[in-house]
Amino acid sequence: MMLSTISRKQLSRSTFAIISTTINTTAYKSRVRLMSTVVTDPLKIALSAEKPIHNWSKEDITKIYNTPLMELLFQAQVQHRKYNDPAEIQLCTLLSIKTGGCTEDCKYCAQSSKNETGVKAEKMIKFDAVIEKAKQAKENGSTRFCMGAAWRDMNGRKSGLKRIGEMVKYINDELKMETCVTLD
Ligand code: SF4
Repeated sequence: MMLSTISRKQLSRSTFAIISTTINTTAYKSRVRLMSTVVTDPLKIALSAEKPIHNWSKEDITKIYNTPLMELLFQAQVQHRKYNDPAEIQLCTLLSIKTGGCTEDCKYCAQSSKNETGVKAEKMIKFDAVIEKAKQAKENGSTRFCMGAAWRDMNGRKSGLKRIGEMVKYINDELKMETCVTLD
């Protein structure tokens, strides 16, 4: 990616990653070593903090936000490696539980009924079929099961949402897997 094409949104994500990583380190260290009078650079303070910091000023956040992207990426990597194995990945499986026929007109999307993509509109997959797929995913090594539904919004879909809630609960409680859903 060329530096000139990096958006503020991406930059913002990196900034957030550093702050988020920083505030999630409580479990690893018990002693607080906070911003001393010597260290005044907010990025350095964020990187050396060993417990959550809740009193960031707008100026501090602005300074971190304005740090060059490559520096933020590097520091985020360093921070990540302090607490995680960099070679470790999580295996996830994604299942489309309701394919095609979406009434929205997102130009890029194969699920939209407005686009000629050859994708046929289907009803939402039944509970048992989804659970079967989740079990297969677990057998194949996945620890997270993700479900996607091609809906424009959730208006008038109370029963569908309830069924998805039941799927999530079963997969969490019985299969002991993490879950996520995308319902648009
Ligand atoms: S709302 Fe979601 S599923 Fe529907 S067309 Fe847009 S991206 Fe595709």
